[in-house]
Amino acid sequence: MKRPENDYAALANPAVLTQPTYEPGRPIEDVAREFGLDPAGIIKLASNENAIGPSPLAKEAASRALDGLNYYPDGASTVLRARLAAHWGLRPSQFVIGNGSNEAMILLAQALLCPGDEVVFGAQAFVVYKLAALLFGAKPVPVPMPSRTHDLAAMRAAISERTKLVFLACPNNPTGTVNPAAEILAFARALPSHVVLCLDEAYTEFLEEHEAADIRPLIAEGVKIVGARTFSKIYGLAGLRVGYLYAAEELIALVQRARQPFNVNLPAQHAAAAALDDVDFVRNTRAANNAGLRQIEAGLRALGLQYTPGRGNFTVFDIPAHVPGGAMSVFDALQRRGVIVRPLAGYGMAESLRVTIGTTAQNERFLAALKTVLDT
Ligand SMILES: *Cc1c(COP(=O)(O)O)cnc(C)c1O
Repeated sequence: MKRPENDYAALANPAVLTQPTYEPGRPIEDVAREFGLDPAGIIKLASNENAIGPSPLAKEAASRALDGLNYYPDGASTVLRARLAAHWGLRPSQFVIGNGSNEAMILLAQALLCPGDEVVFGAQAFVVYKLAALLFGAKPVPVPMPSRTHDLAAMRAAISERTKLVFLACPNNPTGTVNPAAEILAFARALPSHVVLCLDEAYTEFLEEHEAADIRPLIAEGVKIVGARTFSKIYGLAGLRVGYLYAAEELIALVQRARQPFNVNLPAQHAAAAALDDVDFVRNTRAANNAGLRQIEAGLRALGLQYTPGRGNFTVFDIPAHVPGGAMSVFDALQRRGVIVRPLAGYGMAESLRVTIGTTAQNERFLAALKTVLDT
């Protein structure tokens, strides 16, 4: 008897069937294989990773944790949450830890969103917000971003009776732009009470402390706001996958219900707790990043290229219309020279590329490769 076809699509949850795929920065090994290059000679400036390396204190803690790999991790991440509570002056019950802040934001969406709900976010903001909406049958409501910065008035105007969740990143990825802290706090305070604002603070540590919006007083006042933080960027732990949400404990308790029992691995929990103590590493990374941003921006100006002044650990620059093949051909030619950057066509910025700030030497190499590519 003939077996039925493998038409699993007919069985699929429609939200999964229509879920767009996230396009990550290309791994070094892929590019080495495609272009026949030595992986050791390739630099990846495509995923906003920390060019200096992982926090040394975190690395040590992760190594020590390896002897316990036969045990499940503490599912509640008790030590890390206590450490975060002390760090922020909040209670441990106000934190939920995720396998990266990406997972934490998906769990937030899962805890809140029902089919028919609306999710408001910037049209050139992190694509995960749209994915989170679609995955749970909610409607994505992208709001145009003139000058590539979140337009808070337009976002406010896009909120309806059905809006459940708003995502706002500051600095934003991929554009690097920031909204002033006072405006973010005023925006949050003015939201109707059926709306939760998720402030994605993945790159906030790259700002000076006084520039960042402190949402803790708002949480205490009962404003419906949740902060999302990651250890992937300034702490240099992208490979371990750990991030967290902080908010009112009533919201955190809901998100905890959506979480898998052991979602954060053992070395990650130990490394993240140690990283919080690595104040010198954070300070050095921030200083190196500021210098690297200036280096890249000066280099782009010298090449006559337009860029978006940003405050993250990356810069978006535009390829002029007269360059044959546009941004994709520049992306490709840079790869042939062993430099991986990120195309932004998926964000409606087909003429732009995003480069992560590397070490001084990597930034020089990127700028030299870019000059060669544009000259030929
Ligand atoms: C990198 C990034 C994150 C964090 O991702 P992880 O899952 O923690 O690695 C979150 N938001 C934005 C905007 C990012 O760019």
